[in-house]
Amino acid sequence: MSVGPGFLEPAPPLRALGPVSPSHAVGLTLCALREVWTASRAPHLLPLTPAARLGIVAHRLLEESGRGLLNGLTSDRISARWDEILRRAEEDASRSWLDRHLVPLAGSIPDFEVRKLRAIARASALANEATRTLGEGGSRAHATWRVEVPVATPDGSAAGRIDAVVRTLDGPVIRDYKSGAIHEAGGAGQLEIKGAFSVQLKLYAAIYAAMTGTWPVRLEVVPLVGAPESVPFSREECVRLLSDAVRHRDQVNRIIESEAPIAMKMSCLASPSPSTCAFCPYRPGCRPYTDAIKPNTDSWPIDARGRLVEKKTLGSGRELLTLEVHSSTIRIRGLSPSPSRHPAVNASVAGDNLAAFNLRSGGGQTSFTEGPFTVFYVDPDQYSQPLQPQ
Ligand code: SF4
Repeated sequence: MSVGPGFLEPAPPLRALGPVSPSHAVGLTLCALREVWTASRAPHLLPLTPAARLGIVAHRLLEESGRGLLNGLTSDRISARWDEILRRAEEDASRSWLDRHLVPLAGSIPDFEVRKLRAIARASALANEATRTLGEGGSRAHATWRVEVPVATPDGSAAGRIDAVVRTLDGPVIRDYKSGAIHEAGGAGQLEIKGAFSVQLKLYAAIYAAMTGTWPVRLEVVPLVGAPESVPFSREECVRLLSDAVRHRDQVNRIIESEAPIAMKMSCLASPSPSTCAFCPYRPGCRPYTDAIKPNTDSWPIDARGRLVEKKTLGSGRELLTLEVHSSTIRIRGLSPSPSRHPAVNASVAGDNLAAFNLRSGGGQTSFTEGPFTVFYVDPDQYSQPLQPQ
């Protein structure tokens, strides 16, 4: 989708989905277009948030811990391993023009140290548990604990990788590790486990049962802090969720494999909404999103597409852009002058089409500023949607 830093290309071809995984099944219900691009590993067009990147670091540490790779290590050694995984994650981020200004992650996440200590404490606890649950003489063949367990239905329609399967006297327990918050507000003001996490675990249960012929006795979400929490389930519900997910995948593939023009396919697959699109890394290249946003509403992300009128360097050294968006003129102040931070701004001249994403309100309907996730693209297609106020 991107030919170079700051330049947009038309959307890539849509590829049919393979076996549906529990995480993709949940994503399909939110926006099938996003899931299709995610499954084909289309390059992200917006930054990954530092919190999400740190979550990947924490998950990797927990995974190594569950696999027994940290057995017998002191907290200091586990902390050193955290540093190593973090360093690699930051090197990855530094290679991307979208993300490099967000490293080091410690500078972008206010409670970085708290998150780090929680992840190390959970990894230490898991390492102890993994040591205890190894079989005779430390044999993994007889371990009562397996991590990163690949599972698939016999017909290949669904597959995934379970974080951990723990054998107990009552039967297998399926565990899913989460590095972020696991609760959301439920009925009567009660906190309950996030619906997406519950559905994922139920889908894992159905796939596991289809593969092994054995149903798990318990499904658990394991947070970084606190005890594992059980997700109640019935076999009928799990089977129904799996059947729905496969049917949804098949519908999506029928659209992708049809003879319709790509724009029509994208439109059929997309489910634009303020909450879903706000966290979508493909927004800049998504025409259905651009067509859906409503002017003068406060729930959509603050993005703008327009013609560059003027680019000015202020006394502070920061830049001020003036864009014409439909018949309005908007101003975006305080932009970093660094060409590597905003290559599109650096490359554009008056008259070019520019698209701006993740702006911050500057205190009025036509005044905006840069935030840490603000990104500009030279836009070959003039979408010319009005700016959305915050
Ligand atoms: S921007 Fe919105 S509609 Fe487009 S792919 Fe992302 S979530 Fe779907």
